[in-house]
Amino acid sequence: MPKEKVEKKTPVYGYIRKSTEENQEGNSRRQQNSLEYQRKTNEEIAQRNNLRIVKTFQDSMTAYKAFVRDGFKEMLDVFAEQGKEGNVKGIVCTEHNRLARNFGDGGLILWYLQDGLIDKIYTFDKIFTNSASDQMMLAINFAMAKHSSDETSFRSRRTWDLKASQGQPPNQIIPGYKYVGEKGRKVWKVEPKNAPIIIEMFERFGSGKYTVYEIYEFTKEKGLISPRTGKPYKSEKSVRELLKKKEYAGLFEYNGEEIKGSYKSLVSLELYFKAQEVLESSSHPKSPGKSEYAYSDGLIKCQICGGNMSGTIRKGITYYRCLNRAEPCKSKKSLRPSYLKESLIDEKIVDLFKDVEISEKKFKQLSSYISDLFEDEKSRYRTDLVVLKGKLSNAQDEFSEYSKQLSELRKVPSNRRGEEWERDEEGYISLRKNAHLNVDTLKRRISKTEELQEEIPSMMINFLENIKIVSSRFKDASPSNKRQIVDTLCANFRWDGMKLSWDWKKPYHILTGSEKKGDWLRE
Ligand SMILES: [Zn+2]
Repeated sequence: MPKEKVEKKTPVYGYIRKSTEENQEGNSRRQQNSLEYQRKTNEEIAQRNNLRIVKTFQDSMTAYKAFVRDGFKEMLDVFAEQGKEGNVKGIVCTEHNRLARNFGDGGLILWYLQDGLIDKIYTFDKIFTNSASDQMMLAINFAMAKHSSDETSFRSRRTWDLKASQGQPPNQIIPGYKYVGEKGRKVWKVEPKNAPIIIEMFERFGSGKYTVYEIYEFTKEKGLISPRTGKPYKSEKSVRELLKKKEYAGLFEYNGEEIKGSYKSLVSLELYFKAQEVLESSSHPKSPGKSEYAYSDGLIKCQICGGNMSGTIRKGITYYRCLNRAEPCKSKKSLRPSYLKESLIDEKIVDLFKDVEISEKKFKQLSSYISDLFEDEKSRYRTDLVVLKGKLSNAQDEFSEYSKQLSELRKVPSNRRGEEWERDEEGYISLRKNAHLNVDTLKRRISKTEELQEEIPSMMINFLENIKIVSSRFKDASPSNKRQIVDTLCANFRWDGMKLSWDWKKPYHILTGSEKKGDWLRE
């Protein structure tokens, strides 16, 4: 473990936002939605990344939709004011969805990243830079987040929501825990065989005295078993993934939200973060990229036996191959698929993105798809305006009503005024003042909403341009970025030796203009 560096801390801004819609949901969500929780998490992120939070901008009232957020706007104004040469160019927030829940906000953030006004966004799980691939990740996530969550099957979502609200990680199996209980009410319990190995694994690794490979050897020796396969882990990489599981420290993610689990944690948060630091320092080797496989371990399956295709380098070229661990590949040599060249997968994906760039037809398809989403947004603003205007007229009525009452009251001659009269006068004055303030606030909100409604079309176009530009740069992305992008767009890659097939994740098939399935023949 390297000695603590006497590095200067990078100044950043923090951003926290409380949303009322989340507030109406379960307990644990309410807890991690709280500003206090977000502030604490931001501190943790800052500490982990050697950052100093200069100022935290916050928004706690979002009853009138995201655009009417003062803290957010204030923060962006500061970035714009200081320009490219500014001192502070990073934002810390618990997850990127805190920053944007609609096109307008998302477009602004992307715009600022591209213009160099912001250069990094630090979240609990990921650091977004202004690299092409990160911008694309953000663009796609901002644009599709709302939509894709609508499309998740309602029923399973309900069960999982319920689980998450009870502090139980939904649909997750990791060594050290097992689901116990009757169907629908299963909870995580510590699994006694694997758990001690996991604890010792973190302790050893957190000490900084071991490499990931040595930890992998250690887990093999101790007999750590994958609950999925029932067999020992077969790669250093899967052990690396285990070390990243914050579930072990009692936190899990659900629907992009950080949730405090109600199960027993195996390691302390401090130890978990120590392990992340060690991981961080070991995952940036001097010559980066060479040992990393963009599509390794689980992304591509052998269509013949269903096993994972695993990365390997032969004569300087990266291939993926079936490890022949399952039938029929295991015993029937003739059925095994040939090796799949990584560069061929890259080419195919770059081709798809080029399509997006050059084809006016596909661009139009995407545009109309996004305008549909945008129509939705626009109609929400219209609804907001109707509601706001209704409230304004109520507040104005109240104001005149209290003014009238007050002037009636003041007609009472002074010799007939008593204690009760004074109480009434005081009451009406404060009610009238309250109504007056309400009128002011509502007027401001209405003009802001109107302003933003006007700005939306240009933001939308900006967003589309962004997708066009960043997608064409896919081939320059790092392996892990490539994997993330591909993982966002596609699922179920299968290789049969001749043909690579996959499914497009909804709704990303629109990006390519193709149907749900993607096929590609080798020759
Ligand atoms: Zn196979």
